[in-house]
Amino acid sequence: MNRVPLQQPQSCGLWELRERLGTGGFGNVTRWQNKETEEQIAIKQCRQELSERNKERWCLEIQIMKRLDHVNVVAAREVPEGMQKLVATNDMPLLAMEYCQGGDLRKYLNLLENCCGLREGSVLILLCDISSALTYLHKKRIIHRDLKPENIVLQQGEKRLIHKIIDLGYAKELDQSSLCTSFVGTLQYLAPELIERQKYTVTVDYWSFGTLVFECITGFRPFLPTWQPVPWHNKLMLKQDDDVAVYEDLSGEVRFSKHLPQPNSLNSLLLEKMERWLQLMLKWSPQKRGKDPEATPSDCFSQLELILQLKLVHVLNMMSAKILTYSVSDDETVADLQLRIEKDTSVPPVDQELLLEAGLALEPHGLATQYPVGKKLFFNYKL
Ligand code: ATP
Ligand code: MG
Repeated sequence: MNRVPLQQPQSCGLWELRERLGTGGFGNVTRWQNKETEEQIAIKQCRQELSERNKERWCLEIQIMKRLDHVNVVAAREVPEGMQKLVATNDMPLLAMEYCQGGDLRKYLNLLENCCGLREGSVLILLCDISSALTYLHKKRIIHRDLKPENIVLQQGEKRLIHKIIDLGYAKELDQSSLCTSFVGTLQYLAPELIERQKYTVTVDYWSFGTLVFECITGFRPFLPTWQPVPWHNKLMLKQDDDVAVYEDLSGEVRFSKHLPQPNSLNSLLLEKMERWLQLMLKWSPQKRGKDPEATPSDCFSQLELILQLKLVHVLNMMSAKILTYSVSDDETVADLQLRIEKDTSVPPVDQELLLEAGLALEPHGLATQYPVGKKLFFNYKL
């Protein structure tokens, strides 16, 4: 085996080493920049001393990455010429990837402003990106198995931040009908059947995704986040299917809850829908997880798509200072919306004043969906 060089080479042809991005279980990731084109890439390098099994895992990650092509899965790149020989400290291949300058999601969650969860808009983008990546991987019969904030990186797109899944080191390809039985992953986001070393399938990613989404909404993980694996497991087994949070109250008593705790930034309508969705994702039983027997289509990704497609209108009630949120259909008019406001406020449409932010009154025949997403309408009694 090659000796570890005392210092990593700082350049390779036109490529210069810029920084270390991360060190993990058996790899370290560095950023390189091309002097001429300014292109940046991330290089994942295998550390020394891997067992045969881990060597296989390593090579499998590279193989899988090279076959994938999805905007929300980090793309593999060609390893620059000569780099393998110069940089690699053993005979394991390097993995070159597109570089995502936003860093990983953990970094965002750690910001003080996100201590009670991400803003609603950020949560929605994350839901859209990660569900799309997982749908893609699962269609290709690949289970990620290690989904967590550290394994999601961000890149600034033309219009918005884009989330990308990385680290397929634990990913597993399912053959025709088999269920996997090997043990992997990081405990905090790991589905119970993986901890129990039971057979498992794609629904392990549902559990991790649900855990991750809960954390993005509230700022903390749903189930006894500071507990050790064995007591954690014993307590969690007692949770009901639709419990989405287990926590210790002020007196140290363990409580189970079917609701997303406050504070968080979701509007009331979205909160209710996400609670229901998380109830699907965080079911203890891997067979039942991710399915809503009362809905068609019943699978969690279709359900999520319906949630993400909702057209929401937010109306700030100036008298109560409360925000009313309505999901409106494409053909619904302002007059229809006013009838719904009447139901909630008991103010008949003739006495209602609905204004845009700049003070312009709304035309009752206009469509309720025409106002910019995320902008509030203002509601008051007519004087
Ligand atoms: P393993 O679990 O296989 O040992 P690891 O956790 O060490 O892997 P990665 O998760 O692939 O390796 O990367 C470690 C960290 O490096 C990530 O959490 C992220 O912060 C950073 N990183 C990895 N790939 C990229 C990339 N393409 N762009 C930007 N940052 C990256
Ligand atoms: Mg990782």
